Amino acid sequence: MGSGQVTDWQGKNVTVAGLGVSGIPAAKVLHGLGAKVTVVNDGDDARARAQAAELEALGIAVRLGDGATLPEGTELVVTAPGWKPDKPLFTAAREAGVDIWGDVELAWRLRGPDAAPWLAVTGTNGKTTTVQMLAEILKAAGLRTAAVGNIGVSLLDAVLGEEQYDVLAVELSSYQLHWAPSLRAHSAAVLNLAPDHLDWHGSMEAYAADKGRIYEGNRVACVYNVADKATEDLVREADVEEGCRAIGFTLGAPAPSQLGVVDGILVDRAFVENRQKSAQELAEVSDVNPPAPHNIANALAAAALARAFGVHPKAVRDGLRAFTPDAHRIAHVADVAGVSYVDDSKATNTHAAEASLAAYESIVWIAGGLAKGAVFEELVAKSAGHLRAAVLMGADRALIREALARHAPEVPVVDLDRTDTGAMLAAVQEAQRLARPGDTVLLAPACASMDMFANYNQRGDAFAEAVRELGAGA
Ligand code: ADP
Repeated sequence: MGSGQVTDWQGKNVTVAGLGVSGIPAAKVLHGLGAKVTVVNDGDDARARAQAAELEALGIAVRLGDGATLPEGTELVVTAPGWKPDKPLFTAAREAGVDIWGDVELAWRLRGPDAAPWLAVTGTNGKTTTVQMLAEILKAAGLRTAAVGNIGVSLLDAVLGEEQYDVLAVELSSYQLHWAPSLRAHSAAVLNLAPDHLDWHGSMEAYAADKGRIYEGNRVACVYNVADKATEDLVREADVEEGCRAIGFTLGAPAPSQLGVVDGILVDRAFVENRQKSAQELAEVSDVNPPAPHNIANALAAAALARAFGVHPKAVRDGLRAFTPDAHRIAHVADVAGVSYVDDSKATNTHAAEASLAAYESIVWIAGGLAKGAVFEELVAKSAGHLRAAVLMGADRALIREALARHAPEVPVVDLDRTDTGAMLAAVQEAQRLARPGDTVLLAPACASMDMFANYNQRGDAFAEAVRELGAGA
């Protein structure tokens, strides 16, 4: 299908891999353009059947219980981002010389000739937060924009809907990037790079390479994290447009072509007239909510992308002030008897948990869940100095307990030995018992939630509910 826009979809045989949040809209849109769409799906449960019935009523073919076989005559595969690249369906497609596009690639190819440019963000952690900050900054600059991609408005809606945009703030996962070979952003940022989803990508190198795809063909700026050399290496390896600049962000004082922090002020030494001699003040650290170090890094990355797009410094400050974090991301729940209770249920991997443990002095840490193959040695070794105590629960808690025994033997540990939903109340009660006034009880599980809860939202809600019960009893 080449790498340009496809203008004539009439009668094209397209196989959509996976019913679901990206597959169903993709199938409908392609069908609407005149393509001959067949949806294939591994599962064949009641939900899949209901979804299939809805699509079949529109005239879209659906094959349930068979996501492995490539339908005869397929000219293009459009896949759900989560489908692993080594699936037989993809092997068959590659052998037949059939292109495979993900949801992002599809949106990119379907966008109109005057479509809004994309400011794109990826990274192991902080994507959603950064994209939302960026969207607020762009709005404060009077631009028509939306936070899209992995969050908020779907990319297809943003690209094909009625709403007109000047620029899009786009969150992209490593899976989406893997399946988006021709994407070319105006500017892009990789926030950080830590091992995650390695079972999907196959290796750290493959994961990094997929993240690095976000820089390919950038026109104005490739934004990287000065403290995370791997992100800078990706910039160096990227093939970008002539004149595109590498822009670093740092929590320290910025060198030329960087954004950083000086005396509590976020400053820009990249998009200024004389970057050797001058710097532009953007905002105060206290304008960032919450002003935890990793979140200031997110704010700097968002500011860098906005400045690359030509946004005025004042809009950076106003946008950051307007930003409020999503639920379960370092959310302050309550103070009870001089102890602060913070819900960072979204810290589902060790890299995220490390960032939130670094944000408080003295912590009673509630952790555990599904480790997804993670090791906890480095996290515990780096965080030991901040821990008053730890309360563990969930399927893989023993891994954290062993890491604590090795790297922080003086830290008291309560192992709840439970994986039921009700364990959260017990955890919070134990944490209250262990905490002293001035401490923070921090839910930063470093693990996924699915052993005990439907998702991280429900886990965070259970924590907040338990804290409210404490408060009521205090
Ligand atoms: P993502 O969309 O990448 O999952 P979020 O913005 O939703 O990122 O934040 C997820 C979690 O990652 C937060 O709860 C916080 O614990 C942690 N986090 C956020 N930003 C960073 C960062 N820059 N570095 C490390 N951890 C971070």
